[in-house]
Formats: sequence, structure tokens, C-alpha cells
Amino acid sequence: MHNPPPATLRLTVDTDALAANWRALAALAGEASRVKTGAAVKANCYGLGVDACVPVLRDAGAAAFFVAHWSEVPAVLQHVSAEHIIVLHGPGTADEAAYARAIGVKPVINSILQAKLWIATGAGPCHLMVDTGINRLGVGPHGLSDPAIQGLDIGILLSHLASADEASPMNAQQLRAFQTCQEQVRHQQLSLCNSAGIALGSAYHHDLLRPGLALYGGVPCPELADVIRQVAFPQAAIIQKRQLRAGDSVGYNAAFTAQHDMPAAVVSLGYADGFLRCWGAHGFLRNAGRDLPILGKVSMDMVVVDLTAAPELAEGDWLDLPYHLPDASRLSGLSQYELLTILGQRFQK
Ligand SMILES: *Cc1c(COP(=O)(O)O)cnc(C)c1O
Repeated sequence: MHNPPPATLRLTVDTDALAANWRALAALAGEASRVKTGAAVKANCYGLGVDACVPVLRDAGAAAFFVAHWSEVPAVLQHVSAEHIIVLHGPGTADEAAYARAIGVKPVINSILQAKLWIATGAGPCHLMVDTGINRLGVGPHGLSDPAIQGLDIGILLSHLASADEASPMNAQQLRAFQTCQEQVRHQQLSLCNSAGIALGSAYHHDLLRPGLALYGGVPCPELADVIRQVAFPQAAIIQKRQLRAGDSVGYNAAFTAQHDMPAAVVSLGYADGFLRCWGAHGFLRNAGRDLPILGKVSMDMVVVDLTAAPELAEGDWLDLPYHLPDASRLSGLSQYELLTILGQRFQK
């Protein structure tokens, strides 16, 4: 068999920065505190790769690994034992409940229906998500007295903040609602904070933190700006160099027309790789700190950039995507979460 030649797209994951981000978030809960720090590793570690990230987070000391789907469990199970994996969507079918028991991964129960299913299929230890205002998954305050909920063997009682990344009165409201829930169901541990929630302070921390975005270099709130390092460094190669003449147009619908002669590069990067059309208008790629503006529309597999600032570059040279996430989000209009999870399959990790 022949191995394929190296790809013209690559994604470097800075595993030192990943570990440093985990430690920095854990340290925000206080060095000697009893608060444990887990990691959200759903969606293939926010697109950066379970195989690249989970061992680093495990070795750093992560106490729990959160995925959304049951289909995400096998990849994580390659690196950590089942007791440390938590499935946020919970058991929706008897098959899912059977799978949870067979491999020993505890589900998060999110509704009375899921509680009944979990009990009917054999009960046993689980976690419980309570809804304190986000109205997504979770049992609402009025459902907690239901016999199915009262009959659960709950390890962690969780809730999720809707607006932790803003100075919103909703944060304190949800904290109070969570405190009320704690009195209504027996549990062993409490968990409320995502990345941004950690910055809200120790009143929010409880027993277990669940950061995701900030581990991977996202900065959801200003308090974390100096603490979090960039982790994902995507790059794309030049596959053709061209000399544009004044009056030449570039790409679909001739959205850019050269006003003067200029060197340009066709780059192996398109919207199929997660570099969406919203980058076309104000976007640029970079080389050695030089900005290379995008010319015209982003195609499925290609984008054209102005090489005026870097005329020596040629086929095979690498360009950086501007992936400092807070800046990239402002420029593209995409959320930092979207910027990470959208990176496509053609990036070689
Ligand atoms: C995704 C998720 C997290 C992590 O959130 P970030 O904002 O990425 O830190 C934590 N808890 C739950 C329930 C989640 O779904």
C-alpha cells in the first residue's frame, strides 16, 4: 500500500498550551482547594482531536471527561477509563441505557422520561442535570419531586449557565436556583461552571469545573484574556502563484478586480475546510507576521490572497490562518466555538 503524500492543510495543536490552560483554569479555583477540574471533550475536543488532546488533559489531572453523544465514548475510552467519562445527552433509548451499563459510563439524566427509562432498565449510579433557566436539557425545579427523580442514585448534580460570558443578573439568579435544587435531591457532588463560569468566582465553583472552550484557546470573557494561550494553529499551503494584471478579476462572480498589477497566491483552503465565506470580505492569511488580504470570494477548496506584502513566497509555502480566537471571532462574525469546531477533515493533525 502507498501512503498518501502529506496534506496541504495542517493543524498544529500546542499541547503545552493545552495543559497550561487546564492548569490555569484549575488554579482559578484556588491552589489547595478541594474543587476538581474536568474537561469538556465533546465534538472531538472542539475539533482539535481526541487523540491529541485527551491524553494531555488526563496527564494534567483532569478529573472527568464530558461528551455529548454516546457515539463519542469509544474514542475517549481509548485514553481514559469508563468511570471518568460522562455523557451529557443521557440515555434516550433502552439501547443507550444498556450501552452505558455494559461499558460502565455514567449518564447524565436530563428529564423525568430519562429517569424512568434509567430506572426501568436497571437503575444504578448516574448524574442529574437540573435546569435553572437555560431551558435546554435538564429537569426543571418543579420536576425534582417526581418519584422517578427522587429514586435516582445521583453522583453529580449539574446545572448549566446561560450567560456566564456576560455580566448578567441571570448568573446570580441561576446560582440561587441551583442552591434551591440542591436541597431537593440527594447528591454527592455539585457542578455548575463552564469556562466563563469559572471566572465568576468561588461562589460558582462547587465541586467540579467543566471547562471546554478555554482549554482549547477560547477567551469567553475578559478575565481570562491574560490566562489563556492559543492552542490551535491551522495552516494552508500555497498551491499556485499568479501575477494579476490591472483589470483582472478573481474567483466566483468576479468579486475582486485588481486595480494594478499584483502577485497573488492560490491557497489550498476553502469553505469545505471550515474557512467560511464570511472571511472573504475582511479576511486575511498571514506569513511571518505579514497580513495577506483575501481577494474575492472563498471557494470550496481554494482562496486567493494578495502576495504584495510577501512577494518571495511560492508554491509549497505555508500560510497561517488568523486563529487567535477572540480576534478571529470579531473579524469573521463567527463564535469562538464555531471557529474551532468547524475546522474540516482535510486538516492533517
Ligand atoms: C459544552 C459544555 C460545557 C463546556 O462549556 P464551555 O463554554 O466550552 O467551557 C460545560 N458543560 C456543559 C453541560 C456543556 O454542554
